[in-house]
Amino acid sequence: MKKQDISNIKALLKTPKRIVVVPHKNPDGDAIGSTLGLFHYLLGYNHDVCVVAPNDYPEFLKWMPKEESILKYDSQTETCNTLINQAEIIFTLDFNALNRTGDMESVLSQSDSIKIMIDHHQQPEDYAQYTYSDVGMSSTCEMVYNFIDFLDDTSRINAAIATCLYVGIMTDTGSFRFQSTTSNTHKIIADLIDKGAQNAQIHNAIYDTNSYNRLQLLGCSLSNLKVLPEYNTAYITLSQDELNTYNFKKGDTEGTVNYALSLEHIVFAAIFIEDQKQKIIKVSLRSKGDFSVNEFSRLHFNGGGHTNAAGGKSELSLSETVEKFISILPSYKLTLNNE
Ligand code: 5GP
Ligand code: MN
Repeated sequence: MKKQDISNIKALLKTPKRIVVVPHKNPDGDAIGSTLGLFHYLLGYNHDVCVVAPNDYPEFLKWMPKEESILKYDSQTETCNTLINQAEIIFTLDFNALNRTGDMESVLSQSDSIKIMIDHHQQPEDYAQYTYSDVGMSSTCEMVYNFIDFLDDTSRINAAIATCLYVGIMTDTGSFRFQSTTSNTHKIIADLIDKGAQNAQIHNAIYDTNSYNRLQLLGCSLSNLKVLPEYNTAYITLSQDELNTYNFKKGDTEGTVNYALSLEHIVFAAIFIEDQKQKIIKVSLRSKGDFSVNEFSRLHFNGGGHTNAAGGKSELSLSETVEKFISILPSYKLTLNNE
């Protein structure tokens, strides 16, 4: 962040303000971790602050400190509209374009509050007065730690803040294994443990609370796994019927696409999940090396994200979506074989 921006924000936060903190739609560990972490930091200065999420998130995140205070726009629309319209400052975290908040987009874009974006996705839009964007960062949680550091305030990181930021760094780095994990990430993680993040308990709370149905659904995903050796590509499909059979809950397919990517020689992996309610196929893409799934998703599946992890959607049927995916691959054959 620019020095001038930091001193402006410091001055802004000197006196209590009405603040709303917003993650993206279908928030993940980094979105909830970063918004709640910042929320706890701002509470420490007696700001009138709340987190407004576009919609609900998986059960495995529902233990985080003050998680129960998060408002959900889709079910508490009026309250949320009032809070957003009255806000003096709106922080938008872990997304790069206001349309990533779904139905909140119009009220957010109409609000005349000061907006501050903290995010690590590619091609950020220019809607905020203050933008802290760094696509090289492992996670928005790592950036919130840096943001607090820019304000010379890491001494105010308590156990609640440390726990929330730990969650987002851990989930967005695949437990510290992705390329975005740097020695600095580990230094921050070490400091968060020193400040009270109970690392073993956090791993357990996020990863070891599987339901029997979730594991059965994983079994179904793995038996649907298809490999296209010609393109070093693998993909998984899940139909609405299959999801219903295993009583699918939000978050149950989180991480499943990584099994496809873990196959030897595979550099590009996809999962296509039918959502009959929204009438879309949710697409999740992962890659290894320089093959950009962000570009692939922007071009073909109306989405985006990072070089090695992106999402998008398709309005075709499940089988048509797969056909479309397979028909696109020949134009990437050279790249996919050079990774
Ligand atoms: P996932 O596949 O886990 O849903 O998302 C992978 C990454 O892509 C995340 O960083 C997520 O924020 C981003 N992403 C997921 N879906 C979309 C989408 O529809 N549009 C954009 N722009 N990014 C997405
Ligand atoms: Mn993130």
